[in-house]
Amino acid sequence: MIPGLDFIVPAAYFAAAVLFIYGLKGMSSPVTARAGMIWAGVAMLLAIVVTFFHPKVEGNYILMIVALVSASAVAWWWARIVAMTDMPQMIALYNGMGGGSAAAIAAVELLKVHSGQASMVPTTLLIAAFGAIIGSIAFSGSMIAFAKLQGWMRKTWRFPGQQLLNLVVFAATLVLGVWIFIDGPTPTLLLLFFAFALLSGILVTIPIGGADMPVVISLYNALTGIAVGFKGYVLEIPALMIAGIVVGAAGTVLTQLMAKAMNRPLTNVLFSGFGKADEDSAGVSASGEMKSIDGTDAAIQMAYADKVIIVPGYGMAVAQAQHKIWELTELLRERGVKVSFAIHPVAGRMPGHMNVLLAEAGVPYDMIFDLEDINAQFPSTDVALVIGANDVVNPAARKDTSSPIYGMPILDVDKAKNCIVIKRGQGTGFSGIENLLFFEDNTRMLYGDAQKVAQTLISGVKALG
Ligand code: NDP
Repeated sequence: MIPGLDFIVPAAYFAAAVLFIYGLKGMSSPVTARAGMIWAGVAMLLAIVVTFFHPKVEGNYILMIVALVSASAVAWWWARIVAMTDMPQMIALYNGMGGGSAAAIAAVELLKVHSGQASMVPTTLLIAAFGAIIGSIAFSGSMIAFAKLQGWMRKTWRFPGQQLLNLVVFAATLVLGVWIFIDGPTPTLLLLFFAFALLSGILVTIPIGGADMPVVISLYNALTGIAVGFKGYVLEIPALMIAGIVVGAAGTVLTQLMAKAMNRPLTNVLFSGFGKADEDSAGVSASGEMKSIDGTDAAIQMAYADKVIIVPGYGMAVAQAQHKIWELTELLRERGVKVSFAIHPVAGRMPGHMNVLLAEAGVPYDMIFDLEDINAQFPSTDVALVIGANDVVNPAARKDTSSPIYGMPILDVDKAKNCIVIKRGQGTGFSGIENLLFFEDNTRMLYGDAQKVAQTLISGVKALG
């Protein structure tokens, strides 16, 4: 062993852990987020390099290098080509990989105990088993979430007695865990234990869909972090423990924020299932017809308004219309129109999706408002311009007790004096339900791809001189 390594290795792990926390702190603001990502990346690189010198790592260097190079190449290539709108799938898959790795490490360590290659004190055995359960659930659940987001699976899948079955399978996993604790980790017990844990993740995720997906994705992110933290304890690697705990804590906070944004307790998301509406309620159905407006008229309406609020959604991301929208905003501001942007916490397909796009286009942060800060302003707004948003502006959430999104806070664009909605056609939003907004008297539909429509609006405003 190289002299001094017994000091250098733990010191480097400690430095990596500090950098992880520093990086995460940076990610709390859009201004410092990029630097935060770089610091967290440096921490990860440091942790990986120092692992080659860890006293427990003997021999397998070639295997480690092959795994690192091939995985890094795939991740690098994929991250470069992935569309912004496909990020949730990527995050779900990465969460799954993290949880799966933690579960696989637990399996190897437990098998080592069985074959006598290693021993574990009872606390460590218990933590290894817990980590295995959480990691397995995060893995299989994330894979289902990935399949749903990718459109490979029907969004929700329910059947009678589902919750009882979920409970039985989870209880069986726990019983097998206790059995392993008492009798030791035999291969048969381990096989059953992992099979039930994986099944639990699948069963709990298949009924969840629609507007609840952001909550589920961040929950699995949190679980993966916790599982990795437990593995850090079992392997006695503090940096892994700290990194896991940091991810677990951040994921837990994000899950709470997401659930709050949907106005649904987490238990409701997990055990009730999106779409479980009040079936006895008569509900409010859309009446009347959608009324359209052309680009020139819409441009005139906005150009002569005092106050305009722009509400971006997933469609703006698809069309990559953010730059054109900012150009339009600048033209309106030159004419003295007061323009603000309103962001719903689950707009788009990942937390902060709209903020990232608007920041990329150069929209100043002080023009961007969260739901709770801007909702009261809609009644005094001349034009609410909705760009490719649908679920997050659906008044059914307020008005229709039979709607699956009933109770979810929305941006109250229907309360504005006029509302213009840009979308390509009659397509529904992510949750697949009809939008009452489109039938309101003060709403006009401006059909077309968001980027092309934004260009028409720019030309329309410019033509007014
Ligand atoms: P929605 O998915 O509800 O609606 C997007 C709308 O954009 C569609 O109705 C579509 O209509 C329109 N659209 C699509 N492409 C274009 C285009 N090129 N030009 C113009 N319009 C377009 O979006 P929201 O942002 O309102 O809501 C987000 C939804 O996604 C919520 O249900 C949320 O729960 C869910 N979700 C959010 C995640 C997150 O973390 N933020 C993660 C996973 C899911 P048309 O086809 O007619 O054009």
